[in-house]
Amino acid sequence: MSTPGEDMHTLVRRLYPLCRSITGDGVRATLDIVGEHVPLQVHEVPTGTQVLDWTVPQEWNIRDAYIADASGRRVVDFAASNLHVLGYSVPVSATMPLAELRPHLHTLPEQPTLVPYRTSYYQPQWGFCLAQETLDALPDGTYEVCVDSTLADGHLTYAEHVVPGQVPDEVIVSCHVCHPSLANDNLAGIAVATFLAKELAGRNPYYTYRFLFAPGTIGAITWLARNKERVERVKHGLVLACAGDPGQVTYKRSRRGDAEIDRVLRHVLNASERPHRITEFTPYGYDERQFCSPGFDLGVGSLTRTPYAGYPEYHTSADNLDFVSPEAMEDTLAVCREAFGVLDRNRRYLNLSPYGEPQLGRRGLYGALGGRSDAEQAQMAMLWVLNLSDGEHALLDIAERSGLAFDSVAAAADALHDAGLIKA
Ligand code: ZN
Repeated sequence: MSTPGEDMHTLVRRLYPLCRSITGDGVRATLDIVGEHVPLQVHEVPTGTQVLDWTVPQEWNIRDAYIADASGRRVVDFAASNLHVLGYSVPVSATMPLAELRPHLHTLPEQPTLVPYRTSYYQPQWGFCLAQETLDALPDGTYEVCVDSTLADGHLTYAEHVVPGQVPDEVIVSCHVCHPSLANDNLAGIAVATFLAKELAGRNPYYTYRFLFAPGTIGAITWLARNKERVERVKHGLVLACAGDPGQVTYKRSRRGDAEIDRVLRHVLNASERPHRITEFTPYGYDERQFCSPGFDLGVGSLTRTPYAGYPEYHTSADNLDFVSPEAMEDTLAVCREAFGVLDRNRRYLNLSPYGEPQLGRRGLYGALGGRSDAEQAQMAMLWVLNLSDGEHALLDIAERSGLAFDSVAAAADALHDAGLIKA
């Protein structure tokens, strides 16, 4: 039997070779594979569609790209790695001296063995990305350059997977699907989101969970533009990215800073043994930028391991399959599972017998606990829930104030609810 971490890594390995971008067949092929795990509703939004302050761009597809030397040998080859072509390169077919080619070549002089990841979505350009050491080894001379790409009216593609809940209020989980062969910066997040969706499927959760697989920025903006009504129902959310690197878990708060999702993540991370970081909101990073723009100001935080641009492998060929591990992805998945486990049960109750303590023994609420090693904690949890269930405090508030584990507090609330002593 493989572990969920290994299964996620298998998914990452399958997705890795695909040439994704903000539009095009690479995104579709990616969603096809995700769709083998969870059913997806795929949306195709035509080029030119106005979405908030943006316009859906032309669709980009690429078949081949290379630089060949005078002997015809490919010295830079898209077939070897899709990072070699500047994302959204316009087509080119030409022969030119190296000096003329140089302005189109992107390298990382500080990391001479790595190929950078570069794009030019909104300015028509062509270009190649290569290791500085490859460039340094190129003799002067004439080179053939070819980018066999198409930029044409088409569609922007994104997908949703919905796990219906007991209430229409929604939790959104979003991840970007627009980076080519970069394992941590997009694929690990896709894998964790996919496996989280699979886990939730049979659980009959309280909230409706909406998973969004969309290209960064323009995809989230497109979704928001097309779901202005639904946004009212989005109560909580998490943007998942950089979910598989060896660094510690980092939670970036929502713009509000004290949204319920922020308090849930703080509680779950503090209660766990994990080393972690919690950072304040910044209007940069991933699609929390859109969900937390002031007009929406949703309770959406961002969960990563090492955050955006915080590791030397970021946006380079070193963000590869070895950089992400089954264990790290499984740990990120566990944080999501724990957080949504708390969020989904965090409700306010009203003590229906608030004058003096109700007699628990008569209702079998002591007897039910007899012999349990955690009986004392369970009893304390009941007393705390009864005392603080005044309609003001939710179970998470009670857990924090009492210092008890959320699970104990929630179990106590279930028992008191079954005994008719509290109501939601
Ligand atoms: Zn990125």
